Amino acid sequence: MKPAAFTYVRADSAEEALAALASNGDDAKLLAGGQSLIPMMNLRLAQPEVLVDIGRARDLEGIVRDGGLRIGATTRQAALLASADTLAHAPLIAHAMRYVSHPAIRSRGTVGGTLAHADPAAELPAVMVALDATMTVRGPAGTRKVPASDFFVTHLTTAMEEGEMLSEVHVPPPVAGDVRDVFLEVARRHGDYALVAVATRLVLDPSGNVAHARIVVSGVGDVPVRATEAEQRLVGERLDDEVIAVEAGRLAAAPLSPPADVHASSRYRQDVTAVLVRRALVAAGKEQS
Ligand SMILES: Cc1cc2nc3c(=O)[nH]c(=O)nc-3n(C[C@H](O)[C@H](O)[C@H](O)COP(=O)(O)OP(=O)(O)OC[C@H]3O[C@@H](n4cnc5c(N)ncnc54)[C@H](O)[C@@H]3O)c2cc1C
Repeated sequence: MKPAAFTYVRADSAEEALAALASNGDDAKLLAGGQSLIPMMNLRLAQPEVLVDIGRARDLEGIVRDGGLRIGATTRQAALLASADTLAHAPLIAHAMRYVSHPAIRSRGTVGGTLAHADPAAELPAVMVALDATMTVRGPAGTRKVPASDFFVTHLTTAMEEGEMLSEVHVPPPVAGDVRDVFLEVARRHGDYALVAVATRLVLDPSGNVAHARIVVSGVGDVPVRATEAEQRLVGERLDDEVIAVEAGRLAAAPLSPPADVHASSRYRQDVTAVLVRRALVAAGKEQS
């Protein structure tokens, strides 16, 4: 299959990309790694008249430590996975990236492309919500910061407006304490999008009680879903109490109405959520991931 005809524009910087978007309006689309956009164009599900290629915009690429992590939008998924800084400062990202597609796709696919594409079964959006990350969005009206929890609006839709671009993701330093990051997923095959995935960050106080909890689930709604009741139940508890883990799993799953499709029923996704949350908490208690 071949895409409809389009004009190709290469942007070597964020400024050039924004200028190209501004002069072409909603006829233009950014091209990053092309691993989602090009298949959609080949299937004629997307027919942009102008493609603005940011894949070689160096000022949009790279991982910088600043207490937390600043990750440029065109940083390749493979670079994120291989980064020692990622592993040291936000291990949840490294744990999750192993589940994102395959090495060949990760070598082209970008962090910004994954987040902007906003597939509700993708791994990285849930991780960014769990880490309380902030998206930097640049556009004709300037630069604005959007919390990850507000960035994902619905299926394949983000808070970005026409002419705007995701330029960077900022992952703040963790809350002080003993940080336990666990990512678990069930998929039909390794490298597929998740049927259900669970991203958890727990921070323990010096006596071993949970001081901070984030549990975010992919594949069960239009956006990554935070299990706030389960999070609240955990605060002040010890992670070595499996009864609490079972209860938190139940609390995470109960409010969900997951989608059903050819791969899994709604009930299956709900049950898997309860199991994965329980397993993630048990693993966090054992410092495993
Ligand atoms: C076989 C296969 C398996 C896959 N499995 C998974 C998986 O398990 N998990 C997963 O998460 N993904 C998976 N993917 C998708 C892959 O991770 C893509 O790379 C990713 O979704 C899109 O990143 P990209 O850089 O290729 O973006 P592109 O395809 O270039 O762009 C995707 C969309 O984002 C927009 N965009 C890109 N960059 C920006 C930006 N900086 N600002 C604003 N808009 C932007 C584009 O205009 C386009 O609409 C899979 C893909 C394939 C082909």
